[in-house]
Amino acid sequence: MKIEKNGVTILQFQNLNQSGLVNHGFSTRLGGVSQGERATMNLGFTRGDSRDVVEENFARFAGAVGVKTEKIVFGKQVHGTEILEVTEPLPMDGVLKSSLQGYDGFMTNVPGAALLTYHADCVPVFLLDTKQRAIAMVHSGWRGTVGGIGPKALAQMAKAYGTNPADVLVGIGPSIGFCHFQVGEEVVEAFAAAYPFAQDFWRKDDVPGKYHLDLWGIIRRQLQEAGVPETQIETSGLCTMCDTQLFYSHRKMGEARGTMAAVLALKEE
Ligand SMILES: [Zn+2]
Repeated sequence: MKIEKNGVTILQFQNLNQSGLVNHGFSTRLGGVSQGERATMNLGFTRGDSRDVVEENFARFAGAVGVKTEKIVFGKQVHGTEILEVTEPLPMDGVLKSSLQGYDGFMTNVPGAALLTYHADCVPVFLLDTKQRAIAMVHSGWRGTVGGIGPKALAQMAKAYGTNPADVLVGIGPSIGFCHFQVGEEVVEAFAAAYPFAQDFWRKDDVPGKYHLDLWGIIRRQLQEAGVPETQIETSGLCTMCDTQLFYSHRKMGEARGTMAAVLALKEE
């Protein structure tokens, strides 16, 4: 669902809001101060905006979501499946400066710690264990999805927090959809080798050797097989490449774009 707060448009999930346990959101292009091809809510520090501009965007986005900028945790993502457990003191060098590298997911049970992943077509997956009060935020592009970063987050949460997948609410956010996600033979082969069910989630393109892949469907199925009830998984269904007024899309815009973010934090008492 789309929410506008102080001129900033963010997207949220009903199931996460109804839990009353978290603050969360996915950014859109709307409500920031970046100009030109990055207009307006670029949250990436390496996309060509000055630091001041990105910090202003962060202040607006964090304000709309209801998290503190000094508690935001992010790092350089590598399309892998490593997930960092975030504990206190929070692992950032300072306000919005991070030396973390190599993680495509974060998890925590520390209230207020705001887990943030970057996106510009790749799937954001929000996970909330409502019983043990723990969360995970992951970046699940096709490589991360082949590697099973979603189920891996559940397994790590089970180990660290005693999470039972039956108690987990999931939000699968805006990203490139079945409509636009054209891939080659090597991608469907990688999925076929990893998941017998994957063939239900692609179809042949008109272009020979090309396919369309449904990452949302695959991630849903992975999480269901890991024990999350289907009714607890909400999918935004919004394709980033379909709507470049609202989203930045790497496939559509190449490097001439900003970057969006997904953020998830347990509420502080
Ligand atoms: Zn599309």
